[in-house]
Amino acid sequence: MAVVVGIDEERLRTLGARFSGVLLRLKDEGYEEARRVHNGLIDKRPALIARCRGTADIVEALALARETGLEVSVRGGGHNVAGRAVTEGGIMIDLSLMKGIHVDPKARIVHAQGGVLWGEFNRETALHGLATTGGVISTTGIAGLTLGGGVGWLIGKYGLAVDNLLSAELVTADGEVLTVSDEDHPDLFWALRGGGGNFGIAASLEYRLHPLEQVYGGLAVYPLDGAQEVLRFFRDFTQSLPDDLMVVGGLVHAPDGSGVPLAALAVCHSGSIEQAEKDLRPLLDFGSPAMSQIGPLPYPAVNTMLDDGYPRGALNYWKTSFIRSLDDGAIDEMVDRFTACPSPMSGMFMEVFHGAATRVDPTATAVQHRMPGYNFLVTSVWTDMETTDENVAWARGTYDAIKPYLEDRRWLNYLDHDDAEDAVRSAYGPNYERLAAVKRRYDPDNLFRLNHNIQPA
Ligand SMILES: Cc1cc2nc3c(=O)[nH]c(=O)nc-3n(C[C@H](O)[C@H](O)[C@H](O)COP(=O)(O)OP(=O)(O)OC[C@H]3O[C@@H](n4cnc5c(N)ncnc54)[C@H](O)[C@@H]3O)c2cc1C
Repeated sequence: MAVVVGIDEERLRTLGARFSGVLLRLKDEGYEEARRVHNGLIDKRPALIARCRGTADIVEALALARETGLEVSVRGGGHNVAGRAVTEGGIMIDLSLMKGIHVDPKARIVHAQGGVLWGEFNRETALHGLATTGGVISTTGIAGLTLGGGVGWLIGKYGLAVDNLLSAELVTADGEVLTVSDEDHPDLFWALRGGGGNFGIAASLEYRLHPLEQVYGGLAVYPLDGAQEVLRFFRDFTQSLPDDLMVVGGLVHAPDGSGVPLAALAVCHSGSIEQAEKDLRPLLDFGSPAMSQIGPLPYPAVNTMLDDGYPRGALNYWKTSFIRSLDDGAIDEMVDRFTACPSPMSGMFMEVFHGAATRVDPTATAVQHRMPGYNFLVTSVWTDMETTDENVAWARGTYDAIKPYLEDRRWLNYLDHDDAEDAVRSAYGPNYERLAAVKRRYDPDNLFRLNHNIQPA
């Protein structure tokens, strides 16, 4: 066994004898694969990767981290673009082996462990004709996405992912295992619903489910020379969306390898087929799409339709903010910047916040974003490391060009590694001070700091 600075060999052996998961160090088989996350730009080497199989493993790995004083990172699905799931030289508490999912169809609830991905979650709940709000694509982790708020196809009808979270089994900074809910530790539960990984490690999460088998969804793409009209149509059409309908509008490249630039409208309607066809009629009749595939399909299928655009290991740099006014100037600027995009994998998106997600009080959970409007996102994605500077510069330049139309209000889940404390404050707005007070109570030494960090008050 190689000697690792900061971790005593004897102590590691004692832990290894009890640990039901896998402990990996630099030279161990599987270490390389385990340290990698979705964003290929992230290249960190933890001193130890503790691949947990249960709550007791988490508690013990965390105890080791406290004793050694090494930095802790927590990995759920590994999708965070900022790469906060991995630490350089510290202890990575990796939940990706924790895949347990138990659906109670009668009570319409599900318990899922912290390493589950949305595709895995949907597959199990769909067996019972049930679903809840998850992410837009299927390879994202349920834990990180939910704790950061969780926007997805069903927000109009069922709210954000946090709005469906009923409880969590949480390992706190001092190693206590708490069940947190509206009844138990309500202050902690309030903070957990949006507070990211700041308040503990969620070993499992309990969600409310809703009957949903089939949706009416898919994608329509249009030639780029008509992109302004498409985005104006998107703006006008989304002024008063029914709760059943979610639309994401944007500028993308064809994921078929051709890299053709396109304007796109992706939709998901969770009502009846008749109602969907009625509500979607203006969109189905709009313009001359290069391709339109919109119709009835199972909910898990709509959750995978954009997956190909985000392959694991591709290099990612993102910029994001809510839009103040989506006027023609903003649309012209987006299209103009898109024509200068250096990578055939990059895109820009607008997610419509509306319906149930916007009927919750901004202070009821840690998520303040309860106003109807658009969340704007530049996703720079490329594969050639040599072109990194160019692709990062494009995302930053695009964000700067659109800035006059943006609010100072940002979606936590999309923040990148260089978004500093002011970005975290603008993600939480009026909820920041209360979050800092809860942080002081449950994690006064800021053990959980490798995240979009809330400083203890
Ligand atoms: C391609 C892509 C699509 C996305 N789509 C959406 C979307 O539709 N909606 C949306 O809201 N966001 C979306 N995101 C953002 C995503 O929600 C965040 O990146 C989120 O952090 C991912 O969760 P994860 O578990 O995969 O992340 P990880 O990288 O594993 O973890 C990120 C952070 O979350 C915390 N964390 C993770 N697991 C736990 C746990 N069990 N307990 C406590 N803390 C934990 C930790 O602080 C960790 O640093 C997307 C990201 C990508 C790359």
